[in-house]
Amino acid sequence: MNIESLLKQKTFSREELVYLLSCQGEDEQKLFAYSKHLRDRLLSNNIHLRGLIEISNLCIKDCLYCGIRKSNKQAKRYALDEAEILKAASYASQNRYGSIVLQGGERNDPDFVREIESIVYQIKKQSGQKLGITLSLGEQSEDTYRRWFDAGAHRYLLRIETSNEQLYQQIHPHTQNHSFSTRLKCLQTLRKCGYQTGTGVMIGLPFQTLQNLADDLLFFKQTDIDMVGMGPYLEHRETPLWSFRNRLIPLKERLNLSLHMVSCLRILMPYINIAATTALQAIEPLGREKALAIGANIIMPNITPAVQKTKYQLYENKPDTDESAEAATLQLIESVRNCGCEIQWDNWGDSRHFRNKTLTASPPMTSKAQKPLKSPESPAK
Ligand code: SAH
Repeated sequence: MNIESLLKQKTFSREELVYLLSCQGEDEQKLFAYSKHLRDRLLSNNIHLRGLIEISNLCIKDCLYCGIRKSNKQAKRYALDEAEILKAASYASQNRYGSIVLQGGERNDPDFVREIESIVYQIKKQSGQKLGITLSLGEQSEDTYRRWFDAGAHRYLLRIETSNEQLYQQIHPHTQNHSFSTRLKCLQTLRKCGYQTGTGVMIGLPFQTLQNLADDLLFFKQTDIDMVGMGPYLEHRETPLWSFRNRLIPLKERLNLSLHMVSCLRILMPYINIAATTALQAIEPLGREKALAIGANIIMPNITPAVQKTKYQLYENKPDTDESAEAATLQLIESVRNCGCEIQWDNWGDSRHFRNKTLTASPPMTSKAQKPLKSPESPAK
């Protein structure tokens, strides 16, 4: 395949994507240079921050790859209380992060729903409505998504993990609450509620093929997603997928394949937000920077209180776990500069793709910035 003419195309077939995902040498360099060029030209070299607060590792799910799955009895469980979360959010405001992500294991009990609603509301209030909030708290009912949106969250991240239903079933237990169709439905519901909707996949899973990954990219395009966070799959010994570790491609190749995914996605969907995810850093200290250098535009410094951070072990060797938020931020500023990008402080860093859609939509969707915030009906104590 001729890379120059291929890169001029607006979209790609599955076969073309498989080629782009596997190309090496000069073709790889041209691919990476082109995705970086597109990001710089269309979105500028601005990188947006999301202070990542890992609120809890309590989880009702049992995903076969995840270190905080319900059945992992070795995991030390924790849940930050409201004061700890508000303090971390206030750290993000004071340090001009512009936005935070509240991520955690999945729970859907009424107390949890109410607590999150109250916390979101209070974070907005304490920051003078200035802090943007992304949630990443799994599958919820439409009512819950709406309540959290009304409280002030405006972006939601729910990874599809893989867009191939058969592979999805291979990496999840076959119980009612691990259904591929529910996950798809949740993504639709999130959009309906007005969220900027994000999804993503793991790269280098056992049984996964390049064709599957090409299809994942086409899935993002077909579902017209606003933001994507994807990264390498990293095995965890206390999970069922650990026994398939001999089938995995080497870590360096998983990192390289993840970079190819980011690069191809930037070309396919030039205006979306693409995160340089933490799992890249677990393979190589500057793994995230490599993604920023070829077209990612979001980075999520971990600002979870240091005492609890070590317990949010989705996979082994999770980086940063003994570093303070301050040290991590300083190091990040430096390394973002080193890859030719600039951090945009005090900015929500919304998905341009989402904004383009809302500008052309008729009638226009409510702008969260102008929307009056509703106080939760029964705030947690
Ligand atoms: N409960 C939330 C957050 C889950 S953790 C939710 O369901 O969305 C966030 C992401 O970590 C998951 O979506 C998954 O893609 C990723 N993850 C989990 N285990 C992993 C592993 N072993 N290697 C790499 N990524 C993993």
